[in-house]
Amino acid sequence: MNLDSKIQIITGVGPKIKTKLNKLGIFTFRDLVYYFPRAWKDYTHPSLIKGMRIGENYIIKARIRNIEAIKTSKKKMFLVRASLIDEKSDEITAVWFNQPFIKNYLKEGTTWLFSGKVGYDFSLNKKTLNSPEYTKKDEIIAVYPETDGVNSKFISKIVKIVLNLVDIKDFLPEVIIQKNNICSLQDAIKNIHFPKKITDIDKAKQRLSFDELFLISFVMLSRRKRFKEFKSYRQKTYKTQIENFKKSLPYKLTLCQQKAIYEILSDLSKNLPMTRLLDGDVGSGKTIVALVGAINTVLNSLQVAYLAPTEILAHQHFTNISRLLSYLDISIGLLTSNSTLISLHGKISKSQKEKVLKQDIVIGTHSLIEKDVIFKKLGLVIVDEEHRFGVKQRNELLKKSNINFFPHFLSMTATPIPRTLAISIYADLDISILDELPLGRKPITTRLVSPNHRQDAYDFVRKHIQNGRQAFVVCPLIEENKNHFDQDIYSIDKKSVKVEYDKLSKKIFPDLKIMMLHGKMKGEEKNKIMSLFSSGKIDILVSTSVVEVGVDVPNANFMIIEDADRFGLAQLHQFRGRVGRGEHKSFCLLFSNNLSPKVSQRLEAMEKYQNGFKLSQIDLITRGPGELIGKRQSGFGQLKIANLSDTITLKKARHTASIILKSDLAKDPELKKYLSQYEQGKVSR
Ligand code: ADP
Ligand code: MG
Repeated sequence: MNLDSKIQIITGVGPKIKTKLNKLGIFTFRDLVYYFPRAWKDYTHPSLIKGMRIGENYIIKARIRNIEAIKTSKKKMFLVRASLIDEKSDEITAVWFNQPFIKNYLKEGTTWLFSGKVGYDFSLNKKTLNSPEYTKKDEIIAVYPETDGVNSKFISKIVKIVLNLVDIKDFLPEVIIQKNNICSLQDAIKNIHFPKKITDIDKAKQRLSFDELFLISFVMLSRRKRFKEFKSYRQKTYKTQIENFKKSLPYKLTLCQQKAIYEILSDLSKNLPMTRLLDGDVGSGKTIVALVGAINTVLNSLQVAYLAPTEILAHQHFTNISRLLSYLDISIGLLTSNSTLISLHGKISKSQKEKVLKQDIVIGTHSLIEKDVIFKKLGLVIVDEEHRFGVKQRNELLKKSNINFFPHFLSMTATPIPRTLAISIYADLDISILDELPLGRKPITTRLVSPNHRQDAYDFVRKHIQNGRQAFVVCPLIEENKNHFDQDIYSIDKKSVKVEYDKLSKKIFPDLKIMMLHGKMKGEEKNKIMSLFSSGKIDILVSTSVVEVGVDVPNANFMIIEDADRFGLAQLHQFRGRVGRGEHKSFCLLFSNNLSPKVSQRLEAMEKYQNGFKLSQIDLITRGPGELIGKRQSGFGQLKIANLSDTITLKKARHTASIILKSDLAKDPELKKYLSQYEQGKVSR
C-alpha cells in the first residue's frame, strides 16, 4: 500500500461512501491525506460561560446539573434540556431537538465538553447553547468540508487509518528542511489532521504552504530554464533608426519607458530568447515600448506577432501602429476571427488566407494561435494584456516559426501587482516596470455620485461634450432580463446597455450622437462604431465591459460607470484608464444602488487612489489574488493553504527553488521523482 492506493480498500469505505468521497475530489490515499481541514475545534482550551455572546460558537467544560426530556405540545417534538454549570459556577441551558436518547446518555452530575452556538430563549428569558456536540476528550478536532453522509468524524477516522498504513516520505532534502526551519512532511501531515497543540497547526501550515509555493516556483523557474536552452536570433541593434523613430513621436518618452526599451533591446541582442514582462499601469505607454522592439526585429529581417485579447484592441493597434510606422517601409497585417487578413497592401479574403504569414508585423487576436497559421520567420512574439491568456496559448504562438531560431518573447500586463508578488507569479519572466505615467497627465477626478445628483452629473457631462469632448458609459449587462426566473437573482436589477442607451438618447441627451457597443455585435459593426468614436463622430458610447482593456481614445474625458459595485477594483481601474489619456482634464463618475460597507470601501478607494499598484494591494487584501492573476497561473488558484500575501514564505520558497535548480540537489532521487510527477500533474496538491 502506498499513497497511490485507492480509498475503496479502506475498511468502512463501501461503494456508496466511495462515490461520495470521489465527489469531494478524494480518490487515492494521497488525496485523502491532502484533504485539509477547514477549521479546528479546540477542546483543550474551553471558554467560561460568563462572557459568552449570542450568535457565537463556544466550547465549554461543564457539569450537568439536571437534564429533562420534554414533549412539546404543538408539534410533538422532543426537546432535551440540560442545565450546565462550569467551574466558576456559571450556568447555561443546553437544548437539543428530537434527540431523546441524549437524556439517557448525558447523566446528571457528569462533566463533558460541549461545543455549540449561543442562542436566546425568549420564553425562558435566558441564553441557551443550541444542539451542542459533546465529548469527554480534551483534544483538538479537525473540521473538514463535508458532504451529505460524509462528516468530519468519518474523514478523521479514515485519515487516521491511512496514516497508519502508509509512510509519508519527504521529498525535500534534509538540508532544505533545516535551512528553512520547517518541519518534516510527515509531521506536517500528521499535525494538520491531528494536532496536539494549537501551535502544531501553525507549524504544519508553514510547511505545507512552503511546499505549495515552492512547487509553483520550481515549475516556473524550470520553465524559464528550459526556455533559455533554446537559441534565438542575435539581433543587431539599429540605433539610428530607433532614435529616428523616437524623434518622430509627438512626445518625449518617460525615463522608465527608456529603461524598458534598453532592457528589451539588450535582451534581443542575445542569442538566448528574451522572456520579458512589461508591467505598467493603465496608460503608462507600453505600446510604444513594445513597438521599438518590433521595429528592431523587422530591421533584422524578422517578423513580429502581436497578440491582443479582443478584436477591438487588435484593430486599434493595427490602426495606430500603421500610422506610427507609416514613414517606414514596413508591411503590417491584421488577423482576427473574422479572419480577413488585412494588410496595408489591401485585403485578402478568408478562403485565400495564406497559411504562411509574410507581413513584417502581424497583429491579431486568438486567431493567430490557430493551427494553420505559420510565420515565415518569426523573431518576436508580443502578447498584450497577457493575463487574458494562458501559458499554453503563449507557447503555441512561440512554436509558429518556420526557422530554426526560437522567437523572443515580450509580454505586457496592466495588472500592476506588488513587486514581491510579481516576481513569484512571473518567476518565469524578467520584469520591466513602467511605474510613472507620461508627463502632463492630470489626475482623473473620481466621484461616487449619489442618485439625487444624477441630473447635475449629466449637466456637467453635457458641458464638456459641447466643448468637444466625449464620454463612455459602462453597464454590466447587454439587455434587461425579461425572464427573472431564468436569471440569478443578483442580476435582476443590473443596468443594461440597451435600456441605458434608450434613456440617454431619448430623454437625457436627445440632441447628442449616442451609440452602443457590446460583445454580441458582429466584429465589423463593433469596429465601425469604435472607429467612429475614435474619430470623434460619436459623443457618448454606451458599452459593456468590452471597452475594459487597452482602448485608447485620448479625446474622451468622461468614464461613467453604472452599477459600479458589480465590478472589482482592478476592473474599475481599467475602465477609468480609458480616460485621462490626452491633454484634457478627465473624470470618472461611479453610480451604484448597492452601497454595502464593503462596496463603499471599494468605491471610496477608487476616489482616493489613482495608482494601480496601490489599488491592487487593496484588491489583494479584500478579494484575494484571483482577479489580479487572471488566467496567468492556474496553479496559484489552486493554493489550498498558502497565502499569497505571505511574502516571507513566498520569498523563501522561490529562493529555494532557484537554489535547487542550480545545484546538485536537483539530482536528489526522491525530489527528482516528486518534481517530475508534480510537473505532469500527477500529484494532488
Ligand atoms: P498602455 O500602457 O495602457 O497600453 P498606451 O500604450 O495605450 O498605454 O499609451 C497610452 C497613451 O499614452 C497613448 O495615447 C500613447 O500615445 C500615449 N503615450 C505613450 N507614451 C507617452 C509619453 N511618453 N508621453 C505622452 N504620451 C504618451
Ligand atoms: Mg495597452
